[in-house]
Amino acid sequence: MKHDIMCQHCGRPILSRQTLAVVGRGLHSIHRGCYAAYAARQPWYRKPGWPVNRWRSLLAFNALLLAGVLLLHLLVRPMAGAEWLGLWPLLLAINGWLLVARLVSYWSLERHLPRQAPAAARGTQRR
Ligand SMILES: [Zn+2]
Repeated sequence: MKHDIMCQHCGRPILSRQTLAVVGRGLHSIHRGCYAAYAARQPWYRKPGWPVNRWRSLLAFNALLLAGVLLLHLLVRPMAGAEWLGLWPLLLAINGWLLVARLVSYWSLERHLPRQAPAAARGTQRR
């Protein structure tokens, strides 16, 4: 018996990876269409970040992080060459964490879902 993955916002089953968003430290499964409403309902300390089941989130996160470091470098205090090397462990640790989250999300949720919704369910799923 296949167990359905439910949206933790609207309570309806999620039928495909296309409509799945895995968010937050608890890796909650919600519809992509429910994301905005779900995020708005969370208190600030539990705001979900970008959905972890998108590689784009990883890129966007790194871009922002590097932009932040560059801004600090230019505006607050220039960093010496050796200090730049000190950033790598930080980057690796954060990316490692994001990759682990992605893997857990894949094994616990994504691999149970088809890439696309079955034809019959399409249309009702797109929200
Ligand atoms: Zn939903």
